[in-house]
This record gives sequence, C-alpha cells and structure tokens, in this order.
Amino acid sequence: MKIWMLTITGRKKYWGNEQYGNDPIRSYSYDSLVQNHKALAINDIIIIREGERLTGLSTIDQIHQKAGYKELNECPVCRSNRVRFRRTIKPHWKCAYGHQFDAPEKAVRNVVVYDAKFEEQYRELTPNIDWRRLRSHFSNKSALSIRNVSLQSLLKSNDIELRPLQLILRRLLDENPANSGGQKDPKSAIYNAKNALGELVDFLEGCRASDDTDPRNGNKLELPIDTVQLTALWSEIEVIRDQLDKPEAVLQNSKEPSFVMQQTKNFLSEFIKGAGKTAGALAAAGIAAKLFGLLDAIILALKMLTP
Ligand SMILES: [Zn+2]
Repeated sequence: MKIWMLTITGRKKYWGNEQYGNDPIRSYSYDSLVQNHKALAINDIIIIREGERLTGLSTIDQIHQKAGYKELNECPVCRSNRVRFRRTIKPHWKCAYGHQFDAPEKAVRNVVVYDAKFEEQYRELTPNIDWRRLRSHFSNKSALSIRNVSLQSLLKSNDIELRPLQLILRRLLDENPANSGGQKDPKSAIYNAKNALGELVDFLEGCRASDDTDPRNGNKLELPIDTVQLTALWSEIEVIRDQLDKPEAVLQNSKEPSFVMQQTKNFLSEFIKGAGKTAGALAAAGIAAKLFGLLDAIILALKMLTP
C-alpha cells in the first residue's frame, strides 16, 4: 500500500464522445504516458490536490483501463514528446535532446487510459490545506501529477496544519486493516493475480496479432498468434479482471478460469520449439517466450485463488 498526491488539473473534459477527465471526489483519469501510472494500485491511499489546495483523501476502489488516443506535441527531428515552448527565444520550441524548431508536429498516439475510482471512502479535507505543507514528505523531488508521499514521514509530522489530514489518514488506515502494516501483503493471492494480470495487459497493449495489417499498429511487437487467438485472450482477461475486481474475488468458473491462456501457452511452447535460427525467427521466439512467461505467472496466481 502506498500513498500518493494526485494533482487534478481540470474537471470533466470531453474527448470526442468520450469522457476524459476528473471528478475530484470520485475518479481520476490518467494515461500510460504519465509517470507512475503503473505504480498506482487498488487500496492505495490518495490525497487529492486541486490547484494549490489539498481537498480530500480516499483509497482507490478500482482501476479501469481501456485503449485510447492522445494528441501530442512532438519534435519533428527525433519524435520525442519532451518538447517545450519558450516564449522569448526563437525558434520557440526545443526538445529535450536539443533540437530547435518553429512548431511541434502533432501526433496522435495510442495510449492506455486509466480511470481510478475512489468514491467509496472519500473524505473531504476541511479546512483545505496548502499542498506545499506536504513538501518535506514527498519521496522524491520531481513534480509529477501522481506523486509518492512517505506515509511514515507524514504520520510523524508535528505540523499543526497537517493535523486534520493525519486524522483522516489514520482513520483510513484503521478501516483498511490490510493496509495498516504499511505494506500490502505480498503473499495475498488476489494481489498476485492482479499484479500478474496487469503485467500481461501492459505487455499486450504494445503488441499486435500476426495477421494484423492495420498501419496504426505498425510499430507494435508482432505476436506469433493471430487475431482470433488474441481476441479470445483479451476476452478472457476481461472476464478474469471483472472477477478479481469484486471484493470477494471469487473466480466463478473456478475449474478453468484460464482456459484460453493455457491453450495459448501450449501454442507458444510449440512455436518456440519449432522456431528457426534466423535473426527474425529468434526475435519472434523471444516475444513468444515473454508472453509465455507472463501467461505462466497469471495461471499460477489464479490457481492459488481456486479451491
Ligand atoms: Zn528532438
């Protein structure tokens, strides 16, 4: 269990037809280009920052994820999106690698959009506290929108202004006894299964099926499995994820919750055995082995959950 300050910069915005934005008492949206996006986890404690003020605390109930798009400014030379605008210097734009240019190129990138829900345990912080009070309690110096706070340091602070925040924090810890040790139990079977599933999803987001000719997926890793197999895998992931998200986390189809994963694993095993020795074949076998390992980890974790 970790504790984070989440900076909420805007209330609900709309992206095409989709809602993409934040509701400071219910949910927080972010994407796979945001630092720490993988570190934020269910049961983590969050402190909400709106503008200069800390306005509430809660714990994360659920994290949903889906494929999305983001328009980015990119360096026309090296394609980095670490570009910044300089008001007084010409050319106005510069990338982190030193290229200078008049205007960035706009690029639409595939991202994973995450939505962390935290409504259930939300508590308003009254009065609001200036976020700078947390300054000496961050785990590192960089100003990120998802920023890790040291729980021990914060609980020990004698800053009287932080008292109301400490009170809510202690209450959240008391009400989530699994959290009070300061660490999520790494032996928890559900925790392991969610972790393994998360790693599998992260990997698959960067991959495409062997017969996928969509140019937008051109720079993704090509898997040795086809669209039918990949789609079946995604469907099974969705089913398992839904079941893991329920508080009791009981796998309904407990006999073979990972049937497609096991089939895919067998297929990959044969593929690796039959792979040739050319550079291309070795690379493909490497990708197959990576997926094999991820599937193996989730299947093992799911077995621990089934009676
Ligand atoms: Zn550049």
